[in-house]
Amino acid sequence: MRWSKLYLPTYKESPSDAEIPSHQLMIRAGVIRKLTAGVYTFLPLGYRVLKKIENIVREEMNRTGSQEILMPILHPAELYEESGRLQNFGPELFKLNDRKNRLFALGPTHEEVVTDLARTEIRSYRQLPQCLYQILTKFRDEIRPRFGVMRAREFIMKDAYSFHESHESLEETYRTMADAYRRILNRCGLENIMVEADAGVIGGDVNHEFIVFAEEGESEIFTCQCGYTANSERAESAGRPLKSPEKILASPMRVETPGQKTIEEVSRFLNTEPSQLVKTLLYRSGEEVVAALIPGDRSLNETKLAKLLQDPWIETLDDESIRKLTGAEAGYSGPVGLPDKTRIIADTLLDDYEGMIVGANENDTHLRGVKMGRDFEPTETASISTVKSGDRCARCGESELVTRRGVELGHIFKLDTKYSKSMNATFLDQQGKEREFIMGCYGFGVSRAVAAAVEANHDDRGILWPLSITPFDAIMLPINVSDTHTMEVAESLYAELTEAGWEVLFDDRDLRAGFRFKDADLVGIPIRITLGERNLKTNKIEIYHRRDDRSELVDREDVIGVLADVYGSLR
Ligand code: ATP
Ligand code: MG
Repeated sequence: MRWSKLYLPTYKESPSDAEIPSHQLMIRAGVIRKLTAGVYTFLPLGYRVLKKIENIVREEMNRTGSQEILMPILHPAELYEESGRLQNFGPELFKLNDRKNRLFALGPTHEEVVTDLARTEIRSYRQLPQCLYQILTKFRDEIRPRFGVMRAREFIMKDAYSFHESHESLEETYRTMADAYRRILNRCGLENIMVEADAGVIGGDVNHEFIVFAEEGESEIFTCQCGYTANSERAESAGRPLKSPEKILASPMRVETPGQKTIEEVSRFLNTEPSQLVKTLLYRSGEEVVAALIPGDRSLNETKLAKLLQDPWIETLDDESIRKLTGAEAGYSGPVGLPDKTRIIADTLLDDYEGMIVGANENDTHLRGVKMGRDFEPTETASISTVKSGDRCARCGESELVTRRGVELGHIFKLDTKYSKSMNATFLDQQGKEREFIMGCYGFGVSRAVAAAVEANHDDRGILWPLSITPFDAIMLPINVSDTHTMEVAESLYAELTEAGWEVLFDDRDLRAGFRFKDADLVGIPIRITLGERNLKTNKIEIYHRRDDRSELVDREDVIGVLADVYGSLR
């Protein structure tokens, strides 16, 4: 491909709305262009990468025995009423009406559609197990579309769905899929880890995410030497020893804390550690008021709370409602003396507490020496706070949890009978009895993978495409495009390489060499073949290895051999 003919516009400056390196570089290097918030075009360079990732995904899916299909994007909304997700997806679901005013949704994922397919087609256990997949555009009206194609409103996903008669059969496919995901990411050249995760609106109990390591990735994960891995939404810890535990008093002691509302203010005022305080956060879940109690030095994990309450739409109580409920301003709420019907959920870490300092439900007042179980009774205990790096692992109880950041590329779920039950999708088992399908589903963000690849592979000059998904194998850069001899060698080498099946980007643009060198670094092709007048006098050509920042001079005849060496088994 000749750059002079290729639609590959590059920018020196980053767009102002691009917050992370991958987004900045993908715009600057002509990989993607924005149409509107969360909606992007893949330009030729980006589309080539997308197709390569898609091919790897397809090969690995086919290897598992999963079969490719193509389901519709336009979904009748009744299916979502059946599954209950018209409610649960809420505003993230794109909805539209047809000319007869019938409601439709643009597919955010395809559990409903594929379950409908199975319930009409699969009659007998003899037809099981089945696994179907597709690679298709999805639509989700994300609250905060950002980071380019990383969190888009229209994006490409590979989604697979499996149907089983037994849990053993599901387990087998689940493992096969986990292996396939690892292979896909390794083949894409992306360092990754599988972690326990939260199921969100998809549902089911067991689920895992595949995270590609990247310093500015949206996901935070925790790992332990013992092998425990989980994302921040799911992770649980055994906390850490308290610096100076609050002592239990014979009865709670009222202390005046005028104007001191935040944890920092109160702990400074009382000259205590923030961990001696317990935060009482008030939420509304449907008709119910929930008091969530967590250590003062931690944050509430809303995902955990929502899951516990089985309500994705929990919201914090407004100041007025807090005043009505507790009789005091927000900031002085506490668990002692709340109305009986309040559901009190205590974080598991509070089990280790002797006494605690809490709000007194009275303005400018706190209580010291409070004991859980004596001064108030929690309705239940559950892990609802966030984990911190350095906490003891909840699984082994010994080692410390370590945190890392990354980008979520894959998410696999054991759905069990969540959809087959609500949508009445059944088959006849060996005894001729009607049973609900046991299901799994397996998503992979194909367009997000392009962004993750850049996020995990770049330097201050530009992108460093992994070899297996690079848009071109090499970029050829004649330094002086007006020199006849240089261009003769360039043309013949270009023809030879292309003939041999190498994908070469020939930078034949009549622009300053310095400018084109910068562009070559920016677009990040792994190998640059530089043709200079002086070197050519001795039949030499410079090969620059972009990732290692290393150059070598080779004879013109050996260029093809270097490419073969670098790409090795990938070809
Ligand atoms: P997230 O927690 O990032 O919102 P999710 O749990 O909603 O992800 P799934 O429903 O499991 O994601 O979708 C499967 C995969 O699709 C994700 O692992 C991710 O790679 C990709 N994906 C999800 N939402 C988006 C999006 N808005 N833009 C691009 N890719 C996405
Ligand atoms: Mg999401």
